[in-house]
Amino acid sequence: MKHTADIIIIGGGCIGTSIAWQLARQGAGRVVLLEKRMLAAGASGRTGAIVRTHYTHPVLATMALHSRRVFENFSDVVGGAPVFTRTGFLALVSEPDAAAVRANVALHRDLGIRAEALSPDDLAHLEPRLSLDGIGVAAWEPDSGYADGLRVTLAYADAARREGADLRIGVDVETLVVGDDGVEGVQTSDGLIETACVVVAAGYRTHDLLRGVGLDLPMTPVWHDLAFVRRSEGFGAAHPVISDRVNGFFFRPDAGDVTRVGTTAPYDGWVDPNVEADATPSRHELDRLADGFIRRFPGAATLVGHGIACAYDCTPDLQPVLGPATDIDGLFIAAGFSGHGFKLSPVVGELMAEKILTGRTTLVDLDLFRLSRFAEGQPIASDHAYTVATLG
Ligand SMILES: Cc1cc2nc3c(=O)[nH]c(=O)nc-3n(C[C@H](O)[C@H](O)[C@H](O)COP(=O)(O)OP(=O)(O)OC[C@H]3O[C@@H](n4cnc5c(N)ncnc54)[C@H](O)[C@@H]3O)c2cc1C
Repeated sequence: MKHTADIIIIGGGCIGTSIAWQLARQGAGRVVLLEKRMLAAGASGRTGAIVRTHYTHPVLATMALHSRRVFENFSDVVGGAPVFTRTGFLALVSEPDAAAVRANVALHRDLGIRAEALSPDDLAHLEPRLSLDGIGVAAWEPDSGYADGLRVTLAYADAARREGADLRIGVDVETLVVGDDGVEGVQTSDGLIETACVVVAAGYRTHDLLRGVGLDLPMTPVWHDLAFVRRSEGFGAAHPVISDRVNGFFFRPDAGDVTRVGTTAPYDGWVDPNVEADATPSRHELDRLADGFIRRFPGAATLVGHGIACAYDCTPDLQPVLGPATDIDGLFIAAGFSGHGFKLSPVVGELMAEKILTGRTTLVDLDLFRLSRFAEGQPIASDHAYTVATLG
């Protein structure tokens, strides 16, 4: 039997499933998503899932705000159980970045985001358990928090299925098939599927799929570890989500009295493009992460479990590539999220579907995220970037 589809999406993470849902609900025809392992098998199942609007670029802050509103109303918009926990978000920076924080907070307020710049004294008042060591200023977003990568991905997938999308699990896309007039299909472990439209949302594997058809998406897979620590007895209520850009860690409350700890520096991981197996953090790295928590919240904290590890798909400017691959008709890319794509998944699904179906986008212009920006020497830059690029 000949397999065909109107649109094929490669990758069953939060990005691919969000795009599949948006395309299916907008009547895009036969929407087929292909996932080689299982839904949320990659970064989406292991993410820190921090949902913040603190970005140094207005377009990204606009996208993050739009997405946060979806997370806040997830059951109504996507379906399933609520996924968002509002804790507030603090970005802690040292004195050299204080002016940039103030400028970014002003930018956020202009966009309608509730945000404040806090002096160390204000911060001590807000979160008295924090060590203020090295902090010049903090940005505070009371409406931010976190969600759950696995539940969000499965909810997008359920919603896509309800709208008629066909999600095929265990199907490995081996190559993209391209002819003189553009995309013709994908060659998979299940045979050839013909289509004139493919969206590649395959995380760090996107680079290899595109290279197979002569496109260069500069991307480095960087493995990041997450540790789980139990907060000390008597710690009290959970802390806000914190990006400690002074020491390079993020802290996110988890179930009960546990905190999820990761690193904010994008390249602060081990790099191995050939590793696909489920990686496990070393004991040394887990101890380092736990120490990072104790430095900011002095007191005891004990490691729980073995932690988790997964790859960031880092591009040179640490921003994704979104939109059409200009050289090949019918080929679209949504990858390179560089460790901050979960929080953008709602808006990326909307924007990609709009671009594919209408050729334009309304909320923001996706041209900023074009693949060719790297070859053109036009990486995405911010007016008030921080001295060290940090994520979370
Ligand atoms: C440790 C860690 C912490 C993070 N913390 C945060 C955070 O706090 N907030 C935030 O916003 N973001 C965070 N991120 C980033 C965020 O999780 C990712 O940007 C997001 O999950 C990317 O989703 P994705 O769908 O693009 O990729 P993935 O979830 O990696 O999905 C890609 C999918 O494609 C499949 N695939 C690959 N190749 C093929 C193929 N050839 N055929 C078929 N299927 C294929 C894979 O199996 C995988 O399921 C974090 C990431 C990590 C690793």
